[in-house]
Amino acid sequence: MLSNEIITRVHAIIKDKDRVLADEGDRYCYAYDASFGVHVPDLVVQPMCTEEVARLMKLANEHRIPMYPRGRGTSLSGGPLPVEGGIVLDLSRWNQTLVIDEEDLVAIVSPGVITATINEKANQYGLMYPPDPSSAHVSTIGGNLAENAGGPRGLKYGVTKDYVLGLEVVTPEGEVIRTGGKTVKNVTGYDLTKLIVGSEGTLGIITEATLRLIPKPVATKTAMVIFDDLVDAGRAISHVLTSGILPSKMEIMDQSCVVAVENYQPSGLPTDIEALLLIEIDGHPAALEYEIEVVKQACHEVGAREVRVAQTKEEESDLWQARKLVSPAIVQHKPTKISEDATVPRSKIPDMFRKLKEIRETYHVDLVVFGHAGDGNLHPNIIADVRDREEMKRVEQAVEAIFKAAVELGGTLSGEHGIGTMKAPFMEMELGKIGLDMMKRMKSVWDPNNICNPGKIFPKPNQRFTLTHD
Ligand SMILES: Cc1cc2nc3c(=O)[nH]c(=O)nc-3n(C[C@H](O)[C@H](O)[C@H](O)COP(=O)(O)OP(=O)(O)OC[C@H]3O[C@@H](n4cnc5c(N)ncnc54)[C@H](O)[C@@H]3O)c2cc1C
Repeated sequence: MLSNEIITRVHAIIKDKDRVLADEGDRYCYAYDASFGVHVPDLVVQPMCTEEVARLMKLANEHRIPMYPRGRGTSLSGGPLPVEGGIVLDLSRWNQTLVIDEEDLVAIVSPGVITATINEKANQYGLMYPPDPSSAHVSTIGGNLAENAGGPRGLKYGVTKDYVLGLEVVTPEGEVIRTGGKTVKNVTGYDLTKLIVGSEGTLGIITEATLRLIPKPVATKTAMVIFDDLVDAGRAISHVLTSGILPSKMEIMDQSCVVAVENYQPSGLPTDIEALLLIEIDGHPAALEYEIEVVKQACHEVGAREVRVAQTKEEESDLWQARKLVSPAIVQHKPTKISEDATVPRSKIPDMFRKLKEIRETYHVDLVVFGHAGDGNLHPNIIADVRDREEMKRVEQAVEAIFKAAVELGGTLSGEHGIGTMKAPFMEMELGKIGLDMMKRMKSVWDPNNICNPGKIFPKPNQRFTLTHD
């Protein structure tokens, strides 16, 4: 619990009473994210300028108060959960700055700006902000930066870190630093911008970002490719990518996902299949005519049953809408969704599919696969019921097996959702003891009092993986 003295000092920093939430009901709203675990903070504050954040961090340092930055709480890894109590810094109300600088091709944004609005505004200038997490309409740019979020377009355009030129950051000790700037090139010293991006709010609070924009491609084409064998769909991904073209998106849905979508909101997807790929290419319309033929041929060569090319913009958007429906559709069956994002080198996608099939059978779990397959970032999702303890034990074993499979295939625990609390127990498996220790040492230099998002990324001694906390 925070003392009255601390709460009075917080009020002295945040003059607007509405932006300091001490009521139990309000605090409960911040006890969750989109993953597992319930942790109620002692206080929630909603800073709306750099000075407020800096003063709060200084106060927190003086009194060793855990500080938990938060965007819109859509994290799938426990990122913003206040696991040690303390103060949640809700940055979602700080969304006033979204400036497009056409000449320098950059956007300047405050941390609470909703990601999709950056691209929408850039489009008005013929520009594009490519990172497109599926949560882009609800998550903040601050959260995306902290998690280094990615999306379907990551295949061709890269992820959040590839579009960050500069940051303003309040360090855990309350100092304000600027990293990078508006230039495309910058090799002055260590790349602190890239260090902060993906640091999950453990190295400082991002208070402003300068983002790179690129010209918006003039046209797109989408094909739906149908497979009778999931492993063939995996082979098709590498085959298309080595055929001389680079699609902008390549998403996979297995049969369970397709059936779930059709039951939820019929979208005209074929259900008598084992998997389908949605492939988008973008660029000049003349080039697209040629490239779509290359896609068709490459897919047929590895056993695709059929390639259907959307003929109109409506058909194209219906296909992508069907892909977006996967998450809401699969939870109609059972209420608990465990969403993993283990990522493997592209050549290993067929092997990963084989392993996922084995895991589904070994642990008798409802495992469905979809995701950004073009960059190896699969989303094996397990659908379960958290009230069924016996089932949840099998789910935990299956999740561990998924992580092991990904790492054994030369992949990674997380392609985009981050480590947070959920994957911390597995860090050493991927990084090794020394690798993990180097990260811990960096954390202690940046945050000597361990007040910035404590309890994340680094496992506690003997911390084990659990979804049920018993
Ligand atoms: C349906 C659904 C679909 C999703 N799809 C994708 C996807 O396609 N790709 C993907 O990458 N992720 C996806 N996610 C995960 C999630 O949306 C992302 O991780 C997103 O970046 C989180 O943003 P947020 O604003 O909700 O941040 P929060 O969840 O509030 O916080 C996330 C992390 O960022 C830190 N943080 C937040 N703001 C700041 C700041 N200003 N400074 C420092 N640290 C900060 C927090 O401490 C926390 O560690 C999905 C989630 C859902 C629920």
